[in-house]
Amino acid sequence: MSRDMVEDKKISDAVELLLKGGKMLGFHCNECDTPLFEMESNVFCPHCQKKYRIIEKDGTKVVEPAEESAYHIQSHDDAASAEWHEDRKNLAEKLEALLDKIVTEALKSNSIHDVKELVGIMKEITEILKELES
Ligand SMILES: [Zn+2]
Repeated sequence: MSRDMVEDKKISDAVELLLKGGKMLGFHCNECDTPLFEMESNVFCPHCQKKYRIIEKDGTKVVEPAEESAYHIQSHDDAASAEWHEDRKNLAEKLEALLDKIVTEALKSNSIHDVKELVGIMKEITEILKELES
């Protein structure tokens, strides 16, 4: 790919992200110098897909490369996707165990306040489980 084509690709990626509701940030990728984007609270480079996170350093916001998420969905690799499936299953099992524990806690509790809080957590876990199973 020629340098111009690379530039064009960067621009079209950026436009696509803006259309999808992404936000262009004032930070640049330290690998390829492409402006970073923020979308659905993820900060990443649209060109090389490197992930970043925004941190505060001495009162100013800076970006630093983020760890690759274990739940990276956009993988085309079969092994990685099998692993992702396995991770998801493990997580779902753990969440179910946690849910069980919370239900037990809620049943034992005499405080309506605690029960309310526990029910809130149960609801959140159930939501995550639903997402994992979808
Ligand atoms: Zn990059």
